[in-house]
Amino acid sequence: MRLSIILPIYNEEENIKKLYEEIKEVLGNLAVSYEIIAINDGSYDKSYQVIKEIAQKDNFFRAVSFRKNFGQTAALAAGLEFSKGEIIIPMDADLQNDPADIPRLLEKLNEGFDVVSGWRKNRQDKLLTRKIPSWLANYLISFITGLRLHDYGCMLKAYKSEVIKDVRLYGEMHRFVPAYVFWHGAKVGELTVNHRPRIYGQTKYGLSRSFRVILDLLTVKFLTKYSTRPMHFFGYIGYGLLFLSFLSGLLAVSLRIFINLSFISTPLPLLTVFLFLVGLQFILMGLLAEILIRIYYEFPSRPIYSVKERINF
Ligand code: UDP
Ligand code: MG
Repeated sequence: MRLSIILPIYNEEENIKKLYEEIKEVLGNLAVSYEIIAINDGSYDKSYQVIKEIAQKDNFFRAVSFRKNFGQTAALAAGLEFSKGEIIIPMDADLQNDPADIPRLLEKLNEGFDVVSGWRKNRQDKLLTRKIPSWLANYLISFITGLRLHDYGCMLKAYKSEVIKDVRLYGEMHRFVPAYVFWHGAKVGELTVNHRPRIYGQTKYGLSRSFRVILDLLTVKFLTKYSTRPMHFFGYIGYGLLFLSFLSGLLAVSLRIFINLSFISTPLPLLTVFLFLVGLQFILMGLLAEILIRIYYEFPSRPIYSVKERINF
């Protein structure tokens, strides 16, 4: 199996059939072996019926159905888990991404990249609630991760499966996969892709997602940098606070000795004790974190979704 297309689907009943036909046409001209994996993420419209109908006629159209809505990241995680292709291409199931871009993505991948990320240069979404927050988020993510991409949020990307098979996804984290694999030595490229306005159905997101994305960014950064040595993170903050406590104590004592200023006429003694206690807490927290990660790495990983049914596997 050469290619796996992954489609996360949450209430897209009017889009699936047309998308399927578009993908078939593009891949038909490519002469590669492929599978299409549709993940029904707890849709409550007729999406799953449409998916089942297609799966009955086409053996390479596989379906996974979740017990409830677990979110786009979980859908992608399941898609990765069940896919067999050497190359993995996830895309939105709402017809906003254009299957006609698939051959170009593959070409770019063949130039020696491990990941090619789509860039919706001419994005067809609302300016104020989607495009502007997205520009800011992309700038911030690029700055913090050190991988400059214009459009982290674009679902349409091409991955060599060897670089993402082991990646575990949580929260809103599917967008950070390129940065994550980049940190692990993968070569990441970017390609402008077509983006079409949504005609059927509704977007599932608004402004609030941007805030979640920023929090997830902090988590990703923290986990990749310190997940195996949390004591260094907490410990350094602890050191810093203990040092400040020492300075504050020193100042209080000097004032007492040199200008005969009484201890109780400044807040310094209070500050000293406060900084000392908090600093100590941080170091102890680091120890706790060290114990926690030892437990964490001993446990087998649990999936972030629960599958109800699978077809054509
Ligand atoms: N999606 C999903 N689970 C969710 C929300 C969205 O599987 O909880 C799917 C949705 O069906 C679509 C893709 O993720 O295929 C992108 O969603 P949407 O078009 O609403 O996002 P936008 O393009 O507005 O960022
Ligand atoms: Mg969309």
